Amino acid sequence: MKLLALENPLIPSQYELNIEIDPLNTTFKGIITIALHKNKNINIKEFNKFKLHGKNLSITSATFANNNDLKVTSLIDQQQFLFESNDLLSLNDNEIYNLKIEYQGNINQIKTPNDKTQGLFISNFMSNDKNTANNYILATHCQPSFARLIFPCIDEPSIKTNFILSIKSLKRFNTVSVSKIDKIDESSSIDSMKTTHFEKTELLPTSLFGFVIGDLEEIHLDLPNMSKDSNALPITIYSPLKVTQATYTLDIIQKYLPLLSNFFNFKFPSNKLDFVLLPFLNDMVMENFSMITVQMDFLLFTPQSLANPNVRNQTIQLVVHELVHQWIGNYISFNSWEFLAFNESFATFLAYYLISKNDPDNNIWSTENYLQNELATAMIQDSDLPTSKSIHDRYNQRSHNNSGDDITTNDLFDPISYQKGISMLRTLQLSIGEDLFQKAMAELFEDTVTFHNVPIKSMDIFHKLGQILKSENVTNFVSSWTRLPGLPIVSVTTTIDETSKSLKSTLTQHRFYSSENIDPDFDQQTVEDIPYHITLLTQLPGKLSDTKNTLMTDRSLKLDYPVTLLNSNSQGYYRVSYESQECYDEICKELTLGNIDDISLFKIFQDISFYLGNKFFQKSIHISGTIQILNHIASSPKDITLKSLNLWKSLSEGLSLLQTIVQAAVVHNRRAIITKITKLVSKLSEKVDDWSIETISQLHDHHELSTFSKIIALTSTTKPTQDLCQELFKHIRQGPNDSIPIELVSSIYMTISYQMTNIKDWKKLFELVKTSSGIASHIIDFNSTSENEKIITLQNLAITNLGFVTTEELITKLLNFIDTNIAATGIENAFIGVNYNSQAIINKKDNTKVRDAVWKWFKLHYSGWKRNLTKGTGSDGRGEEKLEKIAFMVLQMFVESSKLIEKYENFEDIKPVWETLQHEDRSNCTIISGFSK
Ligand SMILES: [Zn+2]
Repeated sequence: MKLLALENPLIPSQYELNIEIDPLNTTFKGIITIALHKNKNINIKEFNKFKLHGKNLSITSATFANNNDLKVTSLIDQQQFLFESNDLLSLNDNEIYNLKIEYQGNINQIKTPNDKTQGLFISNFMSNDKNTANNYILATHCQPSFARLIFPCIDEPSIKTNFILSIKSLKRFNTVSVSKIDKIDESSSIDSMKTTHFEKTELLPTSLFGFVIGDLEEIHLDLPNMSKDSNALPITIYSPLKVTQATYTLDIIQKYLPLLSNFFNFKFPSNKLDFVLLPFLNDMVMENFSMITVQMDFLLFTPQSLANPNVRNQTIQLVVHELVHQWIGNYISFNSWEFLAFNESFATFLAYYLISKNDPDNNIWSTENYLQNELATAMIQDSDLPTSKSIHDRYNQRSHNNSGDDITTNDLFDPISYQKGISMLRTLQLSIGEDLFQKAMAELFEDTVTFHNVPIKSMDIFHKLGQILKSENVTNFVSSWTRLPGLPIVSVTTTIDETSKSLKSTLTQHRFYSSENIDPDFDQQTVEDIPYHITLLTQLPGKLSDTKNTLMTDRSLKLDYPVTLLNSNSQGYYRVSYESQECYDEICKELTLGNIDDISLFKIFQDISFYLGNKFFQKSIHISGTIQILNHIASSPKDITLKSLNLWKSLSEGLSLLQTIVQAAVVHNRRAIITKITKLVSKLSEKVDDWSIETISQLHDHHELSTFSKIIALTSTTKPTQDLCQELFKHIRQGPNDSIPIELVSSIYMTISYQMTNIKDWKKLFELVKTSSGIASHIIDFNSTSENEKIITLQNLAITNLGFVTTEELITKLLNFIDTNIAATGIENAFIGVNYNSQAIINKKDNTKVRDAVWKWFKLHYSGWKRNLTKGTGSDGRGEEKLEKIAFMVLQMFVESSKLIEKYENFEDIKPVWETLQHEDRSNCTIISGFSK
């Protein structure tokens, strides 16, 4: 759709809007006077028609330049009105033309959270204190293009105007808008009505305009010297009820608003600030200029809920994010919805930065939530080659897909671009230096002609920063992160220079992608692979930061010194691949010196987890390097224990890598690999200070428990672990209460199941499949919300581990059990253990393996299950799903024996599963080949 800002002969510079609202009516009355001037984008001298946006408005009269009545036609599909004059009108530069329109608009009735809070909307609510039902709150929401539901306008972000608003409504109502109240006129002919006149606003796009009227409570605070006119800044929070529960928001504003004003070296860009809480708001929060509207329960807290640090942190992040918008996003605003994701990224980035800097207990940059839930998730999505797109193209695709009528902010907002943007800003800041970055940002506010009077592109900010810092790198940096698709990978090789005998490193960057959705014969040459500007965050030997080469701008970079690691503290949006023996030697050396922290080591392992099984990126050194690092830790002097190292997050991730390798080795029966890993982890288990029940029952750190659980699982075939698990299993069954953390239960069951040789033992575990209620109190579980949920979790764990048995008698029992209970939920999980031990010999006389017994059994029962599970009235697709899962796990035991499987009489039935299995096994094959080299 063509933009009115480009094609219309007239452009507004001011809206003077008078609105009359009776909450008992479903419509409101409006009179608007729009000051228009010639559009500089087009070169004409005369015109007889022009357009304005408007939706669900009925215009009763339109008068141009005081005397010319215009013909008005509603163009409903385009959400526009066409205004036509009988005569040609002359159009002069610098002349202002007033257009006066009288009209009516609709008031949207909101009764449920699903009703659309767009344009002007009303909610009716029950007041607790007064116990009266006829309380009202009328509010507006204009972003991205709902101002047109309230008044005729050009509803596009590229136009900024002043607004002069007056509202006539009930005397008892509070009235709030995007500027301060100028005066209130109560001399109405109707006694119950008053007219509130607001001051002329700052220059704003229509999307940031708004007002709220209604039965509101308020709390108030004055911040000395913070207003744009250097006076005290009045801050008010309004709520339909319980407003005193919003005092925490006032505390946050009081702390962070001055910090922001300091950061930008610019006072709050308005002379007042309001937060208005609404019963319903689809977008949850909206940063209207100096009048932030928020879904009520986001900011109302009882003292009990405020005691929860997560609640406090989320609230701080929300409030500071909205405050940042007032400077960047509102005072400096963007000329297209293309920059919406950037606007959101900036607000979050700066909020995270200020909170981390000013609250020592709350370093958001190193939290699990930021690194794992936000950053890592976006990186995973961005490494899918078929779908990954640049920030720029993501917007184009989005705006193309959402060109319909009622585009919401959500339709325009792209979560990956948002995440990538936060990391881009954070790493740009780190490469420039925090102080210089701040000084340069503050200079934007000295040039109001360029940055405030007109809306900008996000790139304008970076051009300016580049000028101030005298560096072309700033714009190149940002344009690479905006224009290029995908996720970069930097590979590091460190080698000894033969002449100088010193170590040197070479860094090379490419585009990384997962091999999952790619044809194995795919030609890598076809991938567009242009270098990003990457902030390296290099850590040198001795835990020094590299200040010489902070930025990688080209395909490769040669350093005449060795690096310990890149992307320290995991802040960058890229993966690192260490590709020479010397790299791992260096990492081990620095680990010994205590120079590598948990987050950085975790990141090394986490990146490797994306190379394992990836045909295009896995190198055998990733596997040998992982083993080297873990072996180095396991071989450290006796007095160094895992507890003293405190690397739980990274150890847990490193052990996950070993589990992935073991899984591949199990499927392909590579015993030597499994033995090697079992030995390594056994050595590591000796570094655990204390396996006693007293210590174990006290563990609560999630990563520590996860490390313990993986150590047990990976050494389940060894005597010490088996003895330990006998002891722990006794406590699971007999107590006392709160003996065993639930995180350990699965690996204990697994080990127990593995060593069982008779029915009597097996029954102990088997009984827990049927009911675990007797043991629930012995288990510590902070995650389950109810006792019942805990019991169900425990029963599932028992089923999942029931199948690790390796005697003929028990395998037969197990298979019978599965067959008789084939319809039971989750029964297929009993196969996990069977699958794991598929190559174990259960009958020495004829060398029968577990998988031979399973195959015989599967062939015998398959047709029967198929009849029972997939036919009949109860079939909901779950039967098919279960059958596929069982077939998958059975066939996986024969992944290398195609001949056997392909001559099975029902092969056509299981063919799709077999093909999926072959496809997924590619990654196991890659891992195995990487190990043997
Ligand atoms: Zn926002």
